[in-house]
Amino acid sequence: MRLVLLGPPGVGKGTQGRLLAAERGRVLISTGDMLRDAVAKQTPLGVEAKKLMDKGNLVPDEIMIGLVRERTMEGDAQTGFVLDGFPRTVPQANALDAMLAERSLKLDVVVLLSAPDEEIVRRLSSRWECPVCRRVYNALTAPAKDGVHCDDHPDAELRQRVDDTAETVRKRLQVYRDQTAPLVDFYRVRGRLKEVQGMGPLDSVRAALNQAVAG
Ligand code: AMP
Repeated sequence: MRLVLLGPPGVGKGTQGRLLAAERGRVLISTGDMLRDAVAKQTPLGVEAKKLMDKGNLVPDEIMIGLVRERTMEGDAQTGFVLDGFPRTVPQANALDAMLAERSLKLDVVVLLSAPDEEIVRRLSSRWECPVCRRVYNALTAPAKDGVHCDDHPDAELRQRVDDTAETVRKRLQVYRDQTAPLVDFYRVRGRLKEVQGMGPLDSVRAALNQAVAG
């Protein structure tokens, strides 16, 4: 199963993607997490990417396409993957189709998770992540057991992302509307799009997502 999760920042792609990937025994490929790892390691890519990410801008297409090309060729991605955060532009979507076609593969389904802007802003401002495994928690909808540490890494204190400030969130939503939202039609006309409401309790979204992927 090769699947793309599409949707605005904070709609739950990371959380739902992680659950879905685990249930289906597929790897979750999150380009945001890959970049945050590079930032933490201060690689040349990380240093450049940080400047763009902190302001809510996108990292250039050719860099992202190269990263995803390499990542999808690794052993654990051979039976399929769940992509979270890629593609984010039409050139990235075309490149993804092309890189899969080179290997006689194609995407099985693209799921659009949607939620109104107010809900997105509310969620992002209450979002916390584990610095070790990057698992995402939400103080309102999906808190950690003790509210402070990761359930899977009891020594790791949860922290907020630098780009989850109100100003950067507004910018990221604008970037989503301008550069990523066109992918909805891109995949719809190709007959690959399924839509799932990202609002509501985690388990109902999870069930709706599973149904969309199965059907
Ligand atoms: P995310 O965790 O998916 O919200 O991504 C965090 C940030 O990483 C984004 O705001 C972008 O700056 C950058 N980023 C992640 N994925 C991509 C992508 N496919 N193309 C360009 N920039 C990306």
